[in-house]
Amino acid sequence: MAVTENTKYIFITGGVVSSLGKGIASASIGLLLKNRGMKVTILKLDPYINVDPGTLSPYQHGEVFVTDDGAETDLDLGHYERFISENMASTNNATTGQIYYSVIKKERRGDYLGKTVQVIPHITDEIKHRIRSAGHTHENYDVIIVEVGGTIGDIESLPFLEAIRQLCLEAGRDNTLNIHLTLVPYIKAAKEFKTKPTQHSVMRLREIGLNADVLLCRCESRMDSESKDKIGLFCNVPKNAVIEALDVETIYEVPLVFENEGVGDLIMQKLNLPTSSPDLTQWRSFVERVRTPSKEVTIAICGKYVELQDSYKSIIEAFVHAGASNDAHVNLRWIDAVEVETKGTDKVFDGVSGILIPGGFGNRGIEGKIATAGFAREAKVPFFGICLGMQCAIIEFARNVCGLAGANGAEFSPHTDYPVIDIMEEQKNLSNLGGTMRLGAYACELKPEAEISKIYGSREISERHRHRYEVNDRFIEDFARNGLMCTGVNPETRLVETIELKDHPWFLGVQFHPELKSRVLDPHPLFRDFVAATLKFSSQQRGD
Ligand code: GLN
Repeated sequence: MAVTENTKYIFITGGVVSSLGKGIASASIGLLLKNRGMKVTILKLDPYINVDPGTLSPYQHGEVFVTDDGAETDLDLGHYERFISENMASTNNATTGQIYYSVIKKERRGDYLGKTVQVIPHITDEIKHRIRSAGHTHENYDVIIVEVGGTIGDIESLPFLEAIRQLCLEAGRDNTLNIHLTLVPYIKAAKEFKTKPTQHSVMRLREIGLNADVLLCRCESRMDSESKDKIGLFCNVPKNAVIEALDVETIYEVPLVFENEGVGDLIMQKLNLPTSSPDLTQWRSFVERVRTPSKEVTIAICGKYVELQDSYKSIIEAFVHAGASNDAHVNLRWIDAVEVETKGTDKVFDGVSGILIPGGFGNRGIEGKIATAGFAREAKVPFFGICLGMQCAIIEFARNVCGLAGANGAEFSPHTDYPVIDIMEEQKNLSNLGGTMRLGAYACELKPEAEISKIYGSREISERHRHRYEVNDRFIEDFARNGLMCTGVNPETRLVETIELKDHPWFLGVQFHPELKSRVLDPHPLFRDFVAATLKFSSQQRGD
């Protein structure tokens, strides 16, 4: 258990519409409390029946965020890590699928001693157990924040809300707080904010036995005092707990908006926690750098899921962090790999100062990505290959520099004569897709003379993984002779983890996902250095 009898619980639900930013709100509250000296963790409850998002298409779910302990989780965990600078783990994300899975396993074992297994109390007990065992960094937490996925009124989140109702009763009013995030739309024709959707949403909450203690009202512009009064009155919430959550330019301003509105102190008071002032100096200076950079640069991301940028959430955020630390705004140009195949590299990459190929799966667009790596190599444009991106760079190099005609990855061409990327031995006989990749943190040993170890400032690193294929070590010497060096390996398995190209301003590939570890107050060194290289490239292009 991660809790003591003093642990406080904050439940964050959303109403009216989805996509109001519950994840960011939860992460922001976590930051404000951590800054007040609290030991905080955040749990995401997801109402869907998949055991985890690992088997979901990125179009359905966005990015799969991988934790150190190898869990495939909701992308909101990425926000939690980036905001509160704490590692999340498998215990920070529970889905309906996981809850039922574990109850059904217990039933099969005979743990319920002949009882009828029911939503109440068995499923709700399991949910409460997951809430109480959230997190792993501390033995006991001062505060556990629980974000409930979905929108109030959804059938599928009902068991979660019922479990929360029970937990509020068990832990007591002083130890629990319900925060409800809603939308207060402004209707231009009537020149009025409309509070009715919020009233209805809070009513639905009450029907299930939950009172809203704090309302975070998303609004486009400052709400008038009257609307606030009305919301407070109809929703049974004191006016000082009706919070304006104004739209902001960057998600990183949200904690500052909340702090301005007094959210941090309000929560501390309501939970009977000792109030203290937070120190948000570093956060503020980061936001300032994001808002007013003095330089800008354009980097292309060539992938397969470019229509839904949530698929690359952590990469986008890593560029925000890296941009700020380079005093630059990074414009991302999204390139569909299939488009590279039809339009050609010269056209799609015109004017970019760097190219990144992110992780991915399957055949579609693969030749476009391979051509992209070739373009970056020949034109000496800074290039960053992540996971599949690194694999594409290797395939391209094998074909066009080492002369291995038809070289490919076994994922795309199982019978190629030159499988330069091959399936990992332990992946060969797996039949289940869920949770079976090489997942989570693994150590990597870097060569001291390599660029990458200078960038990290260290020879031993640990990064997170999510893949089934690996660099085939049969070809490593051939690559090295031709100028593509393998610069980092796993110390136990000798699996290739990083590569770099000689005689190129910046050409790195990594088998892992560095984007998952970039944080606001600790930008990832590879992204920081890559952005610096693209700025240099762009100023050379301009002839500065
Ligand atoms: N599809 C590749 C593999 O499984 C790359 C995975 C990824 O980019 N995350 O190895």
